[in-house]
Amino acid sequence: MTPSRHVLVSGAGIAGTALALRLSAYGWRTTVLERAPRRRDEGHNIDVRGAAREVLRRMGLEDAVRAAGTREVGFRVIGDGGRPVGEIPMDPSGPTDGPTAELEILRGELARVLMEAAPESTTFRFGTRIVDVEDRGTGDGPARVALDDGTTVTADLVVVAEGLRSRTRDLLFDDVTVRETGMYGAYLTIPRTGDDDAWWNWFHETGSRGVHLRPDNLGTTRAMLTFLSGVRGLETLGDADVRTVLRHTFADAGWAAPRILRELGDGPDGAPMYFDAVGQVMAPRWSSGRVVLLGDAAHCPSPLGGGGTSLALIGAYVLAGELATRPADTAGALHRYEQLLRSAVGRAQKLPPLTLTNPRTRTGIRTLRTTFRAVASSPGQRLLGLFGGSPTGAVDAFRLPDYPAPSSSRVETTSRR
Ligand SMILES: Cc1cc2nc3c(=O)[nH]c(=O)nc-3n(C[C@H](O)[C@H](O)[C@H](O)COP(=O)(O)OP(=O)(O)OC[C@H]3O[C@@H](n4cnc5c(N)ncnc54)[C@H](O)[C@@H]3O)c2cc1C
Repeated sequence: MTPSRHVLVSGAGIAGTALALRLSAYGWRTTVLERAPRRRDEGHNIDVRGAAREVLRRMGLEDAVRAAGTREVGFRVIGDGGRPVGEIPMDPSGPTDGPTAELEILRGELARVLMEAAPESTTFRFGTRIVDVEDRGTGDGPARVALDDGTTVTADLVVVAEGLRSRTRDLLFDDVTVRETGMYGAYLTIPRTGDDDAWWNWFHETGSRGVHLRPDNLGTTRAMLTFLSGVRGLETLGDADVRTVLRHTFADAGWAAPRILRELGDGPDGAPMYFDAVGQVMAPRWSSGRVVLLGDAAHCPSPLGGGGTSLALIGAYVLAGELATRPADTAGALHRYEQLLRSAVGRAQKLPPLTLTNPRTRTGIRTLRTTFRAVASSPGQRLLGLFGGSPTGAVDAFRLPDYPAPSSSRVETTSRR
């Protein structure tokens, strides 16, 4: 009997875990490293669109994801009196997806659903990172990887799925850049109040600041503070400094900002938060020897436009499928995976100017609200893409290849992780 091939995946996020699931089902031995001490459950609502919905269906996970959804009913722009100036309800039967997609789920919940579906044979090693790739496997042999716990692992494939600011990618690929957009986002979980509803509510404040409230399915509310800034590198600050920056930046902001700042606190007792600069990954190549980039680490389009998670799922499906159909030709499979995804990624990375949806002045905000009211009430809602939807977007249009069905495509969900 031929020994099963071994894949070492670095990053137990959406892309890495989905790939591990898929390759396990194709008979690979799978090891997943995660630098965090446990599964990360921070973050907000993300959406699964177009072909990515079909990926979940083929993985047998669509129902589990739907059941764990946020049940957000649509998207609203909030005016100065705290009342909506217009709204776009989610329309599952419509030809396009608006800002709220049909499959809307917390990022942490999607990570949980994927991890719980992983078979016992998948090894998760939390609190572990790659420190060096001693051999990328450019010859016939396997890749050899040194980990920070002092062990060395050999693998037929090393997958770097560490997200936007992947360290291992930067160690191995010297031609990758992160294109910073100048936007920052703080994603907080705050107590739910009786006034919170099931809409994604977005209030625009001068100085290109945004205050958002969104529902979740866990009895809390997801708050987001966004701002455009000429200062780079705020994402590298420690947690306490980030909270100070947010307090200063939103001190005079209206609507829900005072409530969010109260919950923000300034230490471990403050609201759970995930903070990052919004950037895009520009990588001229996604593989080197037996090392391959996957998900945001390869092509993060940014959370603006809503394609990152869908592309991560599609990428995992395609990479696993190509490896399964070309068992003796890893290089060919990696090449084909990149070829199939490139044009969708290129389209997903095209963003409208950020000042259009995040105006600086009162006049700009008035114009945005008037435009939004018109867009929201127009039957075609063709400008939805400006507000975060992807009506004719890359993931909606992606044609999912057919691959042989894995021997075990669905493993019963348990709560062991
Ligand atoms: C905590 C968190 C919260 C997020 N919240 C949102 C959100 O609210 N809205 C949104 O649109 N997008 C959010 N994202 C990004 C979103 O998950 C991705 O854009 C998308 O799902 C693609 O997923 P990915 O698996 O490629 O990357 P990610 O989901 O970012 O997963 C990468 C994983 O790799 C791990 N990792 C990083 N470096 C290393 C390393 N050196 N060694 C081992 N493991 C490593 C990370 O801890 C993480 O678990 C969030 C990401 C994270 C990590």
